[in-house]
Amino acid sequence: MSLKLASVQGRAQFVVGTSDNFRVVDVETSSNGILPSDPMACFNVWDALALHAQSLTTTDGVSCSLEQLDSPIPRPRQLFAIGLNYKLHAKEMNSPLPSTPLTFAKFQSSINTPCGDVHLVGDTCDYESELVIVIGSGGQNIGKQSAWQHIAGIAVGQDLSDRTLQYSGVPPQFSLGKSRTGFSPIGPWVADMRDNASRDNLRLTCSINGETRQDTMTNDMIFDISEIVSYLSGICQLFPGDAIFTGTTSGVGHGHKPPLYLRSGDIIETTLEGVGTIRNHCV
Ligand code: ZN
Repeated sequence: MSLKLASVQGRAQFVVGTSDNFRVVDVETSSNGILPSDPMACFNVWDALALHAQSLTTTDGVSCSLEQLDSPIPRPRQLFAIGLNYKLHAKEMNSPLPSTPLTFAKFQSSINTPCGDVHLVGDTCDYESELVIVIGSGGQNIGKQSAWQHIAGIAVGQDLSDRTLQYSGVPPQFSLGKSRTGFSPIGPWVADMRDNASRDNLRLTCSINGETRQDTMTNDMIFDISEIVSYLSGICQLFPGDAIFTGTTSGVGHGHKPPLYLRSGDIIETTLEGVGTIRNHCV
């Protein structure tokens, strides 16, 4: 069974079964203490986890729900994000296509659980469904051809954005407007993609209260997963468990006329093919 790593009550868990009906197997207990209990420590030994996951079956472990899951990457050393990385989104934001990946930071304190509440601030908070890369072995100056060997897997993310804060100055700044508390839900788990031939062309959707607002294939990215990892690693050393939000497609609230910003009570559901769904309630 291919490796999916989740966290429950701060302990690393293998996920078995399907996204709708899954069970979790405690990583440390099931390996007789050989593998770590801290989810962040798992990215250092990703290949050993993948090997152990192959021996698991869908009846192992205990049944679990999305609501019980913690963030699979609670403390990444670095949390990068790429802006304007889908051609259709650059168009709706009236922005020229970037010639290098437009990079900003989302701060660690903004990380939320897969089903965590999102506390809106003001009346211009917005959703951005994104694929999140999670680094495995990391390193520096990683080539495009070998980039996937340095990636543990991918997850679903929401790059929630306070548009007023984002556009309050000239030029606009992204990092703080996208780092309010709880504005970075990631999950439901980190899925290993080594056996997924479609890993660069997955369907990514976002619905608000059941109404589809974003729907794309990830091959509309301007800079693909390998290019982003190669580019960033040429500047910053990448560490196990670092994460990279890779940008959103068209259909964000800010792109509608009039804008469709998030309101208290809204349910944001974000799904990435081959990974799963996260569901966040706005309060
Ligand atoms: Zn974004």
